[in-house]
Amino acid sequence: MRNDQTRVLLHPVGGSDARVRVYSEATLPTRHGAFRVVVFRERDTDKEHVAAVKGDVRGREGVPVRVHSECLTSEILGSLKCDCRDQLEHALAHIGSARCGVVVYLRQEGRGIGLGNKIRAYALQARGADTYEANRALGFADDLRRYDVAAEILKQLGVASIDLITNNPLKIAGLEREGVRVRSRIPSVAPLNPHNADYLRTKRDRTGHLIELFADEDSA
Ligand SMILES: [Zn+2]
Repeated sequence: MRNDQTRVLLHPVGGSDARVRVYSEATLPTRHGAFRVVVFRERDTDKEHVAAVKGDVRGREGVPVRVHSECLTSEILGSLKCDCRDQLEHALAHIGSARCGVVVYLRQEGRGIGLGNKIRAYALQARGADTYEANRALGFADDLRRYDVAAEILKQLGVASIDLITNNPLKIAGLEREGVRVRSRIPSVAPLNPHNADYLRTKRDRTGHLIELFADEDSA
């Protein structure tokens, strides 16, 4: 039986040259309310990305959006070395209580270097390198994350402009370069613990992340 009422993508705009195409979608009950989960597949690699969509976002301005890169170590294993899981939870909670919004979940582990190399980088960090030095020692640039796929997903969802949930100015610039209209920024959270303090300070000091460290040594 047809039930187009429940589809987010009544009129997918991805042309034959689109980098990603909708593969499937369904409603998912979550602890933050019901989300429409839309799976996009990359045309060339079959890699799958996910958009968790709350409410009706098509044609809407200032849609709260989190563009989030996967982090198996924190999101699945509960690693305390980074703040990815907290930021994802914060975004889902924020959007869950808003009228509409989208979490675009990109499968690009470890700033795009992959899980195996991320763990190699962790091994280097255990010997004293910071997160960026470790990536460079492995031959990678600081940040290989790409935002063209996220931009294409937002375009296909029909979002007119977004309020981006982030502390990362490079992410705003990256999305704008790909044609996304970023209306404003919603600060993300960065709770501090003894394991991620150096990581968060490095992000703030090296790449201009707009992080207010709750328990910074300056104020604690
Ligand atoms: Zn992480």
